[in-house]
Amino acid sequence: MAQDVNANDNVVSTAREGAVAVLTLQSGPVNALGTALRQGILAAVEAAEADAAVEAIVLIGGGRMFSAGADITEFGKPQSGISLPDLLNRIEASTKPVVAAIHGNALGGGLETALACHYRVAVPSAKVGLPEVKLGILPGAGGTQRLPRVVGPRKALDVIVGGSPIGAKAAAAMGLIDELAPEDGLRAHAVAFAERVVAEGRPLLKIRDRDDKIAEGRENPGLFAAFREENARKTRGFEAPQACIACIEAACRLPFDEGLAFERAEFQKLVSGTQSAAQRYVFFAERQAAKIPDVPDDTPARTIARVGVIGAGTMGGGISMNFLNAGIPVTIVETKRAALDRGLKTIRTNYENTAKKGRLKPEDVETRMGLLTDTLELEKLAECDLIIEAVFEDMGIKKEIFSKLDTIAKPGAILASNTSYLDIDAIAAMTSRPADVIGMHFFSPANVMRLLEVVRGEKTAKDVIATAMQIGRKVGKIPVLVGVCHGFVGNRMLAQRQREANRLILEGVTPWDVDRVVYEFGLPMGPFTMSDLAGLDIGWSRETNKSESVRDLLCEQDRRGQKTSAGFYDYDAKRKATPSKVTEEIIAKVAERQGVARRNANDQEILERTLYPMINEGAKILEEGKAIRASDIDIVWINGYGWPVYRGGPMFWADTIGLPKVLERLRAYEAEYGEDFKPSALLERLAAEGKGFKDL
Ligand code: NAD
Repeated sequence: MAQDVNANDNVVSTAREGAVAVLTLQSGPVNALGTALRQGILAAVEAAEADAAVEAIVLIGGGRMFSAGADITEFGKPQSGISLPDLLNRIEASTKPVVAAIHGNALGGGLETALACHYRVAVPSAKVGLPEVKLGILPGAGGTQRLPRVVGPRKALDVIVGGSPIGAKAAAAMGLIDELAPEDGLRAHAVAFAERVVAEGRPLLKIRDRDDKIAEGRENPGLFAAFREENARKTRGFEAPQACIACIEAACRLPFDEGLAFERAEFQKLVSGTQSAAQRYVFFAERQAAKIPDVPDDTPARTIARVGVIGAGTMGGGISMNFLNAGIPVTIVETKRAALDRGLKTIRTNYENTAKKGRLKPEDVETRMGLLTDTLELEKLAECDLIIEAVFEDMGIKKEIFSKLDTIAKPGAILASNTSYLDIDAIAAMTSRPADVIGMHFFSPANVMRLLEVVRGEKTAKDVIATAMQIGRKVGKIPVLVGVCHGFVGNRMLAQRQREANRLILEGVTPWDVDRVVYEFGLPMGPFTMSDLAGLDIGWSRETNKSESVRDLLCEQDRRGQKTSAGFYDYDAKRKATPSKVTEEIIAKVAERQGVARRNANDQEILERTLYPMINEGAKILEEGKAIRASDIDIVWINGYGWPVYRGGPMFWADTIGLPKVLERLRAYEAEYGEDFKPSALLERLAAEGKGFKDL
C-alpha cells in the first residue's frame, strides 16, 4: 500500500511502498530542473535517507516524462538554491540505493540526474540523451564525466557531441539502462528492482568510481583526434562540440572530481559566451516565429486532405515530396508529357536513393509514389484543398494560371504561389477570391530545406495564413510569415550581398577571396560558389544577352556553372572547384570597360561590404513591416541559407557587433559608394538610443 509521508511539497511527492520510498517529480509538463524542483528533490532524498523505515529510493517522473532537463530560462541568472551538480553529487552519495525509473524523456539534466542514481530502469519507449550541445553548451552536471564511465568514451562522444536522443533499448544495450521495465508497469518494476537490490545486498553503484570503460580512452587516445576529424565538417565553427570532446577526454585522464571541475569551467565559458547566447536565442526564435499577433493560435485552419502542385520542375517535384512524405495525396500537373515524366522520374529516383542509403523502406517508396497522381489537365485540381503553383518565374504565365484556377478550384481551396520574387497581390488580383491566395515560398532543394516563407498578401484571409503555417509545420518545415516585397525577406537581403560581391570583384578582389571570407564566417558557401551551383544562366539567354556583365561573358563561353564543369570556377570530374584564370581575365576586361579602379580589400572590408548591407536591408524590412520581428529574419537566414546558428542570424549578429559600429561603417561606405549603403532610419534610431534589434 502506498502511503504519503511528505505531501507538503508539491513539486516532489513521496510515497512509501514497503521499505521503498518512491519520490515522484511533478513540476510542470516536463519536470524542468528549476530551483524549486532541485530543492524539492534534495529535501525528499534527505528525508528518505533519514527515515529508518526506508531501505531504498526510487526517483520517478510524474506526468509525461522523467525530466527534459535544466530550466533554460534560468541560464545567465544568479544561482538560487542548490546547483544541479551539487544536488547530483548528493544523490550519488546517498547511503541508500537510489533507482531512477524513466519513462518519456530523460534529457540533459534529466539524464544526468539518472546517471547520479545507483541504478536505472526504463520503459522501452523512453528516450534518453544529452542535447546541450545544440544550445551551445555541454552537460554541466557531471554528464560528460559520468556517461563515458558507463558506456565508454567512443559512445559517449556520439551521444554528447551528436546531441540526439536514443531509445531506451539502445541505451540498455550500451549499459546505460540496467533493466527494461514493462511499458505499463514502470513504477512497480522499479520498486521490485529496488527491493531486489536490498535483498541481494547489491552495492551502491556509483558511476564516479567506475574505471573499466574509460580505460579505452587512455589506451587509445588517438580516438579523440579521429573523432574530431570525422566530425570536422558538421562541427565547423562551433565551440561547444570541441568543449564536449575535451571534457570526455578529461574524463578518461583525470580523477572524477578534477574532471567535474574541468567540465564546470568549460561549461561556464560556454554559457557566458556569444555562441550559446546565439543558439539559445535561435531555439526561442524558432518557436516565436509560429506566433502571429493578429492570427491567434486558435484560428480555425482549413482541412488539407489533397494538395495540387503545378509544375514538375526543380521546385514542384521537391514540394510534392514534402506532402507525400507526410501521407498527403498530391496531384501534379504539367503541360507536356515529357516534362511530367521527367519530374516523376526525379521524385522516384530521389526516394530510391534514400532507400538505398537505408533511410526509407523499399515498400515506402511505392506507398509514397502511390499517393501521387499525375496529369496534363489543370481541371484535375478541382478536388484539391491547397494548390501550389511552381511554374517558371514569369508573371504572365502565373497570372494566366491563377485566373484559370479561379474557375477550376473548389470554393475554400487555398491558392498558393511558390514565386521567389513576384507580387502576390498582383497574382491574387487575377482571381475573384484574393482572400484565398497566399505565397508559399519553399527553398531549394524543397524536400530538404526547412524554411518556408509564407507570404501574406494584402487581402489574404487569416484562416488561410493559419492553414499555410500549420500545414508547413506538418510537413516538417519552419514557416515564417513575411510580407509582399521584391524577394520577400530572404532573397531581398541576399540581393544586397550579391550586389556588393559583384562590385568587389570588379574592384580587384578575387571571387575566391570573397567566397573564402564568407565561408570562414560560417556560411556554407560564398556567393560565387552559390552562383555556380545554381547555374549562371538563370534568367540569361543567348538571344537577350548583352555581353555586359561578368556573368554574361561567362555564359557566352558556356561557363554556366557546375553543370557545365565551369563557371566562376573550373570543376573536375568530382566537382572539385579550382580558381579560374579565364574568369579573372573576364573580370579584368569588364572592370576596364566600366572604368573601375582596381584595388585590394582586406578580409574585414569584404565581410562588412557583403554582410552589413544585409543588416541594413533587414532593418528596412522591419521598418516596412514585411517581417513581424527581427528574430523572424534570423530564422529565415538560418534555415533558408545556412547562416551559422552560432552567430544567431544577421540581426542578432548585428546586435553583437553593436549597432553604432554597424552604422558608422555603413556611413563610411555610403560616402564612397552612395545610396546603396544609406542607413535605414530604424538602424539610425536604435543606434542613437543605444538599443539593439533585440529591444524591438
Ligand atoms: P523549373 O523550370 O525547374 O520548373 C518549372 C516547371 O513548370 C517546368 O517543368 C515547366 O514545364 C512547368 N510549367 C511551365 N508552365 C506550366 C503550366 N502552365 N502548367 C504546368 N506546368 C508548367 O523551375 P523551378 O526552379 O522549379 O521554379 C519554379 C518556381 O519556383 C519559380 O517561380 C521560381 O522562382 C520558384 N523558386 C525556385 C527556386 C529554385 O531555387 N529553383 C527556389 C524557390 C522558388
